[in-house]
Amino acid sequence: MSVSDLECDVVIIGAGPSGTMAAALLAQKGVNATVLEKSHFPRFVIGESLLPQSMEFIEKAGMMEALKNADFQMKNGAAFAFGDKKSNIAFEEKSAEGWATTFQVQRSSFDKLLADEAVKNGVEIRYGHEVSSITLNDDGADLLVNDDAGNQIALRCRFIVDASGYGRVLPRMLGLERPSTFPVRHALFTHISDQLSTKEFDRNKILITVHPNEPDIWYWLIPFGNGQSSIGVVATPERLAKIDGNPSQKLWSLISEVDELSGLLADAKEIRTVSEMKGYSCNVSHLCAHNYVLLGNAGEFLDPVFSSGVTVAMKSADLLVEPLVRQLNGEKVDWQKDFETPLKVGVECFKAFVEAWYDGSLQKIIKNPPQGENSIKSMIVSVLAGYAWDEKNVFVTNPKKYLALVGNQCA
Ligand SMILES: Cc1cc2nc3c(=O)[nH]c(=O)nc-3n(C[C@H](O)[C@H](O)[C@H](O)COP(=O)(O)OP(=O)(O)OC[C@H]3O[C@@H](n4cnc5c(N)ncnc54)[C@H](O)[C@@H]3O)c2cc1C
Repeated sequence: MSVSDLECDVVIIGAGPSGTMAAALLAQKGVNATVLEKSHFPRFVIGESLLPQSMEFIEKAGMMEALKNADFQMKNGAAFAFGDKKSNIAFEEKSAEGWATTFQVQRSSFDKLLADEAVKNGVEIRYGHEVSSITLNDDGADLLVNDDAGNQIALRCRFIVDASGYGRVLPRMLGLERPSTFPVRHALFTHISDQLSTKEFDRNKILITVHPNEPDIWYWLIPFGNGQSSIGVVATPERLAKIDGNPSQKLWSLISEVDELSGLLADAKEIRTVSEMKGYSCNVSHLCAHNYVLLGNAGEFLDPVFSSGVTVAMKSADLLVEPLVRQLNGEKVDWQKDFETPLKVGVECFKAFVEAWYDGSLQKIIKNPPQGENSIKSMIVSVLAGYAWDEKNVFVTNPKKYLALVGNQCA
């Protein structure tokens, strides 16, 4: 084991979308952050359906050209299936300004693309470097990092950005974790060779299918551009425990309970071992202090149903940049006011939408959208396109009230 001492202004833990976006945007402002990533890319991670709002950050970071050239599947909305009742959301109907399309991406390639683009813009990413301990102090923090070669590296920095996703490095080390307000749910998922080309199916949309008899069970089908798709199901752990077999058998058994979906996937072949994630919703006591912030999933993760994870991750990275640059230049920053409060606007909006999905009111609205009230529909579509920080939208500023109001009017 060798030990070397390094000093830098900013350390970012994790090279997922929140970490590389933060590093690239900081580099634009002349701040050199060192990104430490425990794995080597490409690596698998779940979270494959993006929202149009995320394109704003990708564009701002100068990564759009590379993304457009990468051959990912275009996405222009979401399709919902409730038994034989179908309902489509077209993002172009949104009330907010901005992008109306995005992509469905294999995260192994997408995250590598973002990381490679960040490196082209001067960011240093050290792969195979796992942060194992952090001691915070008034001037920043001291870290211990283990690399793949068996070295332990001591590192001192002025500011830590925790973008470690499900690793949740700082929340675990500092005891910041708090229980999520959502009940524990369990997801089973895999990639398939979908064989959908002969079927009537719109590859430009994620398909969300709701179980015909148990509306808290739902399935995603996210088509990629290469004849493959991501398929997954979300259910309670108790419900999954009642099904015999291994994760793959449980997944396909639940799919077989939905005629439409099992018909669509009749010729599909599983091409990846089925993964499972249980109790992924998480929360923390706070997201920032004078010497650290938590970005993306390292802070809070709600629920996958509206594909909001990567958008929240990138928004948190974007919000970090301006106050951090000021602080590094010697100004005092009110992190609560300048980072956490604005980030929470969108997080709370998505939270209200997720709650309304599971209490049934949003499922009713999507199934039977309000007629003759285009402005209401376009404001709801706007949030579903990720524009959850657009304070001109009453479904952003007061989502619970307006979702309940509209839900009561829908059959
Ligand atoms: C079932 C399910 C489905 C989902 N579907 C979607 C979806 O369709 N669309 C969507 O937008 N979101 C989705 N999400 C959410 C999405 O997965 C996350 O929100 C997103 O990946 C968060 O990005 P991130 O950068 O915060 O973290 P991550 O993408 O998880 O990246 C964190 C990185 O940190 C690294 N790391 C961890 N610990 C350490 C350490 N100690 N030292 C160094 N590096 C470390 C990891 O290796 C990893 O590369 C889904 C989530 C679940 C559970």
